[in-house]
Amino acid sequence: MKTAITGGAGFIGSHLVEHLLAAGDEVAVLDNLSTGRLENLKGVIGHRNFHFVEGTILDRDAVDRVVAGADRVFHLAAAVGVNLIVDHPLESLRTNIHGTEVVLDAVLESGASILLASTSEIYGKNTSDSLSEEADRILGSALKSRWTYAAAKGIDEAFAHAYWRQFGLPVAIVRLFNTVGPRQTGRYGMVVPRLVRQALLGEPLTVYGDGHQTRCFSYVGDIVPAIVRISEEPLAYGNAYNLGGSYEISILTLAERIVELLGSGSAITLVPYEQAYSEGYEDMRRRVPDNSKSFGLVGFEPKTTLDEIILNVAADYKPAKVLDPARWKITLAS
Ligand code: UDP
Repeated sequence: MKTAITGGAGFIGSHLVEHLLAAGDEVAVLDNLSTGRLENLKGVIGHRNFHFVEGTILDRDAVDRVVAGADRVFHLAAAVGVNLIVDHPLESLRTNIHGTEVVLDAVLESGASILLASTSEIYGKNTSDSLSEEADRILGSALKSRWTYAAAKGIDEAFAHAYWRQFGLPVAIVRLFNTVGPRQTGRYGMVVPRLVRQALLGEPLTVYGDGHQTRCFSYVGDIVPAIVRISEEPLAYGNAYNLGGSYEISILTLAERIVELLGSGSAITLVPYEQAYSEGYEDMRRRVPDNSKSFGLVGFEPKTTLDEIILNVAADYKPAKVLDPARWKITLAS
């Protein structure tokens, strides 16, 4: 099977590349190395079935080069991370809307199938106990960049859906809820790598707001195989599937657990949102997925516990040596 991946040098993309190469695929990646890093691909560079093109999804020629001959495409390239979105709204909009249109057009011409990576952000401020794929989207002001990101990803989904309905493009959509794991950088805002790094360095853990906002973190090692199974299921075409963790935790409790688990001496500090983010940010109090549709389609069940996730993220962090892993409360399963 020949597979093309946009955004394959990113956090999730690079895990997907490894997974597919191990399964025997020939894999071509397109990445502009903006948030993605070649370092993420160091385990596969030189692999005889791996090809890399540096370029942007806004460039149709570059997209054509990786899509040519592919049986399937995973479209993961996007401007992601709250900090990046809020600080670079225009670039993010262009990449996330026009870039997706370029990729869908290229795939339509090539005859491949495509899986579009979307996000739980599209549900916005809906604090339902369990967000199903049909749940309402509750977005804040269009003048806040955070919501324009959610709007852009919603437009992406609408494009994908329209290509399916009007042209029969075999396109499936997955909505990822706070996927975390090794290689995710905290540079663009993501809370788990940030707090783990702070705990390992003995710095205060920065919990924003009152810390009572909640999330359900999911592990990249659980999410990647599910993405692949969904891409292989024709029933998924024209449909969207949630993929998230099942354990809801407040950010304050998460910080406490990280400190405890890593044996860190760090304090936990509450930082007001106005100090943490520039203008254009507004938080979500809660975001809980209903995974039953993806369970029904491919048997998706998140398996990795939050403690295992934290330890895997900590083990990946190079300066981990500042805190002796022997002090960690539990050890990693090999
Ligand atoms: N957050 C935090 N400290 C940080 C980074 C993020 O308390 O150093 C908070 C953030 O305000 C949000 C939650 O953690 O309430 C999750 O943030 P992230 O950007 O990881 O994901 P998202 O908001 O997109 O769910």
